[in-house]
Parts: sequence; C-alpha cells; structure tokens
Amino acid sequence: MVRHYIWLILLSGFAIWQASSIQSWPLGWQSLLFYAPYAVAGIGAFISVFLNRMQAVLLLVSVSIVVLALSYFVPTQLTDPSMQVVFPLLSVLLPLNLLLWVLVPEKGVKHNVYNLLLLGGFAAQAAGIYWVMQNMPVEFVTHLTTPVSIDPTFPIKVPMVGSVVILLVANILVIRLAMMHKAKVLDVVVLFVLVLMAYGLNQPGEYGVLEWMATISGLMIMLSLVFDAHKIAYTDELTGMAGRRALFESFMGLTRKYTVVMIDIDHFKKFNDTYGHDIGDLVLRTVSRVLNGVGSGGKAFRFGGEEFTVLFVGKTPEQVRPVMDALRKEVEQTNLSFKHNGKETSTKVTVSMGVAQKTKEMKTPEEVIKAADQALYQAKELGRNRVVVAGDPSEQALKKGQKSARIRKRNTKSA
Ligand code: GH3
Ligand code: MG
Ligand code: MG
Repeated sequence: MVRHYIWLILLSGFAIWQASSIQSWPLGWQSLLFYAPYAVAGIGAFISVFLNRMQAVLLLVSVSIVVLALSYFVPTQLTDPSMQVVFPLLSVLLPLNLLLWVLVPEKGVKHNVYNLLLLGGFAAQAAGIYWVMQNMPVEFVTHLTTPVSIDPTFPIKVPMVGSVVILLVANILVIRLAMMHKAKVLDVVVLFVLVLMAYGLNQPGEYGVLEWMATISGLMIMLSLVFDAHKIAYTDELTGMAGRRALFESFMGLTRKYTVVMIDIDHFKKFNDTYGHDIGDLVLRTVSRVLNGVGSGGKAFRFGGEEFTVLFVGKTPEQVRPVMDALRKEVEQTNLSFKHNGKETSTKVTVSMGVAQKTKEMKTPEEVIKAADQALYQAKELGRNRVVVAGDPSEQALKKGQKSARIRKRNTKSA
C-alpha cells in the first residue's frame, strides 16, 4: 500500500527542500515559476477533461485561484485595509474547497447541470469574499486575522481560523482514507496538496514559495490522473483483480522461465441459468478473491468471462501444483450465500485448472496459455474440480484408463 505512494512522499519532500532556496535558482527558472502554477493547472485540466474527470479540474482551479488571488491582493493590503481579509478567507476556503471537490461524486465533464452548480460554487465564494470586504465589522476582521502566536518568529503564519480549518480538513481526509475500501490515487493526493499548500500559505511574502507549492500540487494532481487511468485500464471492473491486459503486460520482457495456470469455473452456465446473472457475478467475485490470495509468487488475473489465469514467474509446474490444488480446495469449501426467490440459499462451486510451463518448444505466452488451456480441457474431461499439468504422464495414463474403461463399458453394453 505505502510503496504505491512513495513518489508522493519524495515529491513533497523535494518541494519542501527546494522551497527555501528558490532565490538561489537561476533567474530564468525563477521567472518561469510565476507562470508554472497556471501552466501545470492548464495541462492538468486538459488531461482531466480528456479523461472525463471533473474533480481534478476543480481541484486544479481551486489551487490556482488561491495563488492568483494572493499574488494580486496581498501587495495591495498595505494601502487598502479591506484586503487584509483576503488572506485569512482564502486560507479557510482553500482547505474547504479541496475537501468539497474530493467529496462530490464524479459525474464527468459532460454533466452540464452538475458542472454549472460546481462552477457556481466558485462564483459564490468570490461574491462571499467581496461581500465580507465591503461589509466587514472591525471585530470580525480582528477575529479572522488573529495569528496562531504573537511571536513573529513562530513558523505558522496562517491565522487561527485558517489553521484550525486546515487541521480539521486534514483529519477528515485521513479518516476518509482509512475508511475507504478502495481509494483512488487522487484521494491520497488531495491530502498531500493540502499539506503543501498549507506550507506555502505559511510563507507569506516569501519569494515564489506559494507558486512553487501550487506547481508541485498541480503536478501531483496531474500524475494522479495518469495513475488512476492506468489502474482503470489494467483492472477488471467486476472483480477488481488485474485484467487480461495486465496479464499480457506481465509477459513483456519476461525472459525467465514461468508457469501459467488457466482456471475455469465448473458448470458455470448452469449456475447462471439457475440463479441469474447477478449471482453469477457474485460467484466470479468470490472465486477472484480466493485466487487473489495466491501466495508463492503467483499473480492472479481475470482472463475473461469465467476464466482466470495465475502466472508464476521462475516456478515449475511441480512447484505450482500443490499451491493451486490448495486454492482449488479453498474454492470448493467456500460457502456462497445469497437470496434466491426470497429464500436464503447456500451453495458451492468448483473450479478446474490446467498448468503449463514455458519450454524450448513453447516459447510465446500464447503457446503456453494454449497448452494450459488444453490441460484445463483435460481436467474437465476427467471429471472437473481438479488440477492437470500439461504433458504429465500420470494424467495421460489416467485419461487413457478412463477412455478404455468407457470403451469397455460400451462394448459390454452392446454385447
Ligand atoms: P464447464 O464446466 O465445462 O466450464 O461448463 P461451463 O458452463 O462453465 O462452460 P462455458 O464456458 O460454456 O460457460 C461459460 C458461461 O459463463 C457462459 C456465460 O453465461 C457465463 N459468463 C461469462 N462471463 C460472465 C460474467 O461476466 N458474468 C456472469 N454472470 N456470467 C458470465
Ligand atoms: Mg469457460
Ligand atoms: Mg466453465
């Protein structure tokens, strides 16, 4: 879990490490930095719209608006006291926006009513800030701008209200992540964006720090889009396990020996016909959960329909067989409980498996899969709920024995 997010920790660390030395950057880079947040947000928004994701657009807009507003308003606050509320208000609104836009359900960029509502959210906030600037009572401003500490060397410069809201939102985001069954990368990224932007807000007047933090934040949001799109492409939607594309990706550049197991649910058609497609899907999810638990270096994939594949890199069929046989038994012993025609029903399914390994004769993944498929077919013929290894002499003998037994039976019948 954590290893998937090391890039986020490294990128945040890099951002904070560099933040204090922006003034020693080459001049060209420094001037670029003042356009970078908007450039990154623009590219990010383009990718987001292309992938039909609205949440990321809203997060990118929220971050850039804060940078734009502060770079515009803060220099004027010495001459215009009403500007003093902009910084505290934005420090409250930014975390709330990050939270809001990650909580709203994703409905895609084409959902016009919904999107107008969301964009209306920004307009309402701008109007709200304007209203406060025009109508603020003095006590309100004093409350809003109260610093966390009167000591000017204290590192937290965001006023009390903003700091409280940032902490609160950070807590909600952490609790939300802990409770989520399957978090998107974007869900994790928002927490890091909040931390970086809070860091940036705490360096008011520091040359380019907020711009730098917004740039890295935008980059993180952009990368999360790529990672989430990658996940969608390689994951099977129904079972949540790796899909067929991921399987063929695993074969790419694979030079070591490997063993492939093809798995097929027994009499699944009958099961579907009896209980319906929904319960069929439940079976697929249950079997995928068992197969996903494969240890010993195996990785499970949904090959398609009710067929699964497990790939063992660096393993021989002799090593794989007991592992798969244990999984076969586990499936056989797993109770499937569901409601059918209003009655609590409990039943079980079995699976058949075919095992084949890469050899000198069978070099391509397609050939190995085909051999595993043939072994699977044998397993079905031999009575299902079993594991057959391709080219295993004992299986051949068993098969031959059964065939001759059948012939004998037929002959005795006809005799
Ligand atoms: P066998 O023991 O020989 O494998 O018998 P079978 O009935 O399982 O074999 P077959 O391959 O003919 O049946 C596959 C069935 O799987 C056909 C289809 O109705 C069902 N199926 C394929 N994909 C899905 C799916 O995504 N959801 C559900 N519910 N059923 C599926
Ligand atoms: Mg099948
Ligand atoms: Mg089947």
